Amino acid sequence: MIRSLIAGNWKMNGTTVMLSVVEEIVNGLKSRGDEADCLICPPATLLYALSDAATGTPLKSGGQDCHAELNGAHTGDIAAEMIADAGGQYVIVGHSERRADHGETSDDVRAKAEAAFRAGLTPIICIGETLEEREAGQALNIIAQQLAASLPDNDGDAGAVVAYEPVWAIGTGKVATTEQVDEVHTAIRKQLEERFGAKGAGMRILYGGSMKPENAGALLSLTDVNGGLIGGASLKAADFLAIYDAGISNL
Ligand code: PEP
Repeated sequence: MIRSLIAGNWKMNGTTVMLSVVEEIVNGLKSRGDEADCLICPPATLLYALSDAATGTPLKSGGQDCHAELNGAHTGDIAAEMIADAGGQYVIVGHSERRADHGETSDDVRAKAEAAFRAGLTPIICIGETLEEREAGQALNIIAQQLAASLPDNDGDAGAVVAYEPVWAIGTGKVATTEQVDEVHTAIRKQLEERFGAKGAGMRILYGGSMKPENAGALLSLTDVNGGLIGGASLKAADFLAIYDAGISNL
C-alpha cells in the first residue's frame, strides 16, 4: 500500500500573513489523524517560518526548486542543502513553470533531483505534456521521455516522487479527465517498474492540474494516483484540507 502525499505548491504567493493559513492547516491535520502525508512548499522566504510552525506536527515543508550545485556564484538560487537547513524535507523540481520560464531541460531537472538526494530531501519530479503535444497524440511519448531523462538512476534511499502535471491543466481550471489521468499514470507506473523493479512499484505518482475539492475524490481514487500536487487550491486551508480528506477517504 502506497502512502498518499497531498502537496501544496504556493508558487510566488504569500508573505508572513499566510502563516495563519499554515496554522489552520496544522490544526486541521491534528484533528484528522495521520493517514496520508501532507506538505506545503511555500516561497523560499517563508520556508524557515513554515517549517518552524510545522515542527512536531504532521505537516511537512519543502522548496519549489533548488540549484544542482552545493554552493557558489549563483545569484538568487538556493541549494538543496539550504532547503534542508531551513527545515524542508521535500523539493519540487522540473515544474512546468520552471521548464518554461527558466528553460530548464530534463537533464537540468535530473541534476537538481540528484542534488535533492545529496541533501537528504525527497524530490518531487514534475513531468507533463503541453496541449499541442496532447493534440498531436504525443502525450505518452513526451511523458515517457521526460520521465526517463528527469529521474536519476540512483533514486536515493527515500525514493523520488513523480508528479504528472499536464501543462494545459495547471492554473487553467481545466482538469484532465479520469480516463486521461488513469492512462498516463498507468504508463508511468509501468516505466518505473521496468526501470526500478519492486521499488518502482512503490514510488508515489501525484496528479497535478486544477485539483479542487470537487474533483479530488475521483482523481485520488485511481489506482496509480498516490496523491496530488495542488497549486491554487492549496492557498486556502479549507480547500486544501478538503482535498486531503478526499485523499484519505480512498485509503
Ligand atoms: C501546480 O502548480 O503544480 C498546480 C497543479 O497548480 P494548480 O493546482 O493551480 O493548477
